Amino acid sequence: MAFKVSINGELFDKEDAKISVYDHGLLYGDGVFEGMRSYGGRVFRLEEHLDRLWASAKAIWLEIPIARAELGRQIHELLKTNGISDGYIRLVVTRGAGTLGLDPNRTSNPQIIIITDHIALYPEEFYENGLEIVTASTIRNHSAALSPRIKSLNYLNNILAKIEGLRAGCIEAMMLNHKGEVAECTGDNIFIVRHGSVYTPPLDAGILDGITRQTVITLAREEGLTVHESALTKYDVYTADECFLTGSAAEIIPVVRIDDRVIGSGRPGPVTRDLTRLFHELTRHVVL
Ligand code: PMP
Repeated sequence: MAFKVSINGELFDKEDAKISVYDHGLLYGDGVFEGMRSYGGRVFRLEEHLDRLWASAKAIWLEIPIARAELGRQIHELLKTNGISDGYIRLVVTRGAGTLGLDPNRTSNPQIIIITDHIALYPEEFYENGLEIVTASTIRNHSAALSPRIKSLNYLNNILAKIEGLRAGCIEAMMLNHKGEVAECTGDNIFIVRHGSVYTPPLDAGILDGITRQTVITLAREEGLTVHESALTKYDVYTADECFLTGSAAEIIPVVRIDDRVIGSGRPGPVTRDLTRLFHELTRHVVL
C-alpha cells in the first residue's frame, strides 16, 4: 500500500501528491518546514517543533492557515493511516502558487504538506564506529542575511556544504560562521566533550535552534554534566576528547575524525555513549 500524503488536510497517494509548479516554495524556496520523529506512534517534542514552525513562518511573514492543535491532530492521524509507529515526519508550509514574480502578495493560499515515511537513519556502522566529517568551505548563512534560526525551504547553503562533504567521501560536513567559528553541520548540531564537560556553539553562532540539541543539553545537565554554550573554533574540535552530532533524524551520532584528525581515542567516547543511552531511554521507554 502506498503511503498517503496530506496536502491541506486532504489525503493523496504518494504518487498523486502534487502541488503547482507556480508555488513559490518551488520557484524561490519560499516556505518553512520541520523534520520530526515519531516513537510508538507519537511525535517526539511536537509542541517544540510547532513552536519553531510558527516562529520560522512569522519571521518570513508567512501566515499558517490552520490552528496548531488541528495540525498536530492531522499529523498523528496520518501516522495512524500509514501504519507508522517509529518514523519520520516532514511538515512543509509553502507560500503557495503565484505569478512568476517575487511578490508574495500575488500568491494564493499557503500549502500545508505532511509526509510520513520510514526513518532513514545513518547506517548502523556509523553509530557503532563513529563518523568522519570535513569542514566545508561554504560558511553558514550570515544571520543578518537569512537567519539560520529560520528553518526555511531555502537550504542551498547547507546543500553546497553537503556536496563538499560527499565529494570528500563524508556524509556530513562541519560549517563555520562568518567569524570562522564552528556553527553546525549541514543537517545536525555539533557538540564536543573536553575533560568531562560538554560544549556546543551558542545560538548566536548562527545555527538552527535544534530540538535534539536542547533535549541533549537538558539530559546532560540532569546527569550532572556541565554544559557550556560557547563559541568554538576548529582547534577546539580537533583537540576535543569526544565529538557528536544531534538531529531529529540522526538522534545522537558520534564523530571520530574531522579534517583527517583523529578525535580522542578514535572511538565513540563514554560521554557520547551515556547520552545516547539516556536519549534512547527518553524516546523509547518513557511516555513522551
Ligand atoms: N541544524 C540544521 C541545519 C538542521 O537542518 C537540523 C535539522 N535537520 C538540525 C540542526 C537539527 O535540528 P533538530 O534537532 O531540531 O532536528
